[in-house]
Amino acid sequence: MNEYDSNRIYDLASKKGFEKTNNFEETDCYVLNTCHIREKSTEKVYSDIGRLKKNFLNKKKPYVLVTGCVAQAENEVMLKREPYIDAVVGPQSYQELSQIFSSFEKRKKNNFTDFDVVKKFDTLNKIKNSISKVSSFVTIQEGCDKFCSFCVVPYTRGQEFSRNPKDIIREAKELVKNGVREITLLGQNVNAYNFTENKKKSRLSDLIFELDEIRNLKRVRYTTSHPNDMTKDLIDCYKYSKKLMPFLHLPVQSGSNIILKKMNRRHTREEYLDVIQNLMEVNPKMSFSSDFIVGYPEETSRDFDETISLINEVKFINSYSFIFSPRPGTPAAKMKILNKKIQQKRLIILQDLLEKIKNYKNKNEVGKINEVLVENKMKNQNNYFSRNKSSTPVIIEEASETDVGKLVNVKIKKYNRNSLFGTVIRSNKVGEAA
Ligand code: SF4
Repeated sequence: MNEYDSNRIYDLASKKGFEKTNNFEETDCYVLNTCHIREKSTEKVYSDIGRLKKNFLNKKKPYVLVTGCVAQAENEVMLKREPYIDAVVGPQSYQELSQIFSSFEKRKKNNFTDFDVVKKFDTLNKIKNSISKVSSFVTIQEGCDKFCSFCVVPYTRGQEFSRNPKDIIREAKELVKNGVREITLLGQNVNAYNFTENKKKSRLSDLIFELDEIRNLKRVRYTTSHPNDMTKDLIDCYKYSKKLMPFLHLPVQSGSNIILKKMNRRHTREEYLDVIQNLMEVNPKMSFSSDFIVGYPEETSRDFDETISLINEVKFINSYSFIFSPRPGTPAAKMKILNKKIQQKRLIILQDLLEKIKNYKNKNEVGKINEVLVENKMKNQNNYFSRNKSSTPVIIEEASETDVGKLVNVKIKKYNRNSLFGTVIRSNKVGEAA
């Protein structure tokens, strides 16, 4: 979401006459867009600003803005600790940026951390999304009402808010006009999307079917989902939608019911597995990825084994896994942290298993034909970057600039832990796609 937000912040800045620069020396305004999901992000802000200060020693200071969830969470503390920061702007106050970019010098206020998400989208809806990459994001929902014990999102992004579907579809059409061919719908809790106007309800499934109708849009994905919001209408999209990819990132965090309860995830291991099974029933080609928190407070070796058995059962093709890191202000931050060595040992075991499964799945693709969406020519190489239906990177030889933005069939010749490698099949013969 921060990638999407950074681009939108840039759209606001460019409307005021700014241009991006990689040359720090000539920067008039420095925007540091931050994420608070992991420990150490706050310290990174201070060290980045330290480097910036060195660059501007004896020169006119640039205007320094810290945006995003660290700005939201730290606000006054941050402004006091680092006077080099001119303003902090929380993620639900980006509507203030237009004014800030217009008049740096005149501003007295420097803390913009209200939760005014309606005004924010009103402002952003009026600014054209300039992204022209083949694959792009569109935010449809923000915030979360779930309050998992370890997570800062409900505090930094606020309550669940769903954008008007008309604005979403307009933005999607605009992006497709720019050359975008794949759209990933974004939200902290994207499948909780729910917009009602004049008694007409719009759900994520409705949006997916509307996107299906956009000419030249080839693929649709969404992230990140909560298992409890995988409703039947959404599961059925994997059967009936023409463009929704048969791949789902569905965080589970733990395979142990005891830990899931302590995390306040509000679902059990069995309920999670039921969702997976229901999805497999409507589309047997589905594949999955997930998030895991390892070494959660009070996690026993038995709880950890339950997570391992869940991974073996679902066979996730790609996942994110981290050692539990306490986020200030969350209920889990008050719990006793497990021994670091135990946490690290468990993380290694879990990541080894995830790697093994990923390798096995990648190896299994060798010799098969994958339908891929070609995204771009790779830097310093003649190869092209693409992704198959399950979002695995596929590096292709013998492609050309005219393939960019198109779906092509690729015969997979080799693999490594992260990617598949192949050549384009130019005939119309379509084999089994991933
Ligand atoms: S559902 Fe996701 S975003 Fe919401 S509190 Fe839980 S982990 Fe955080």
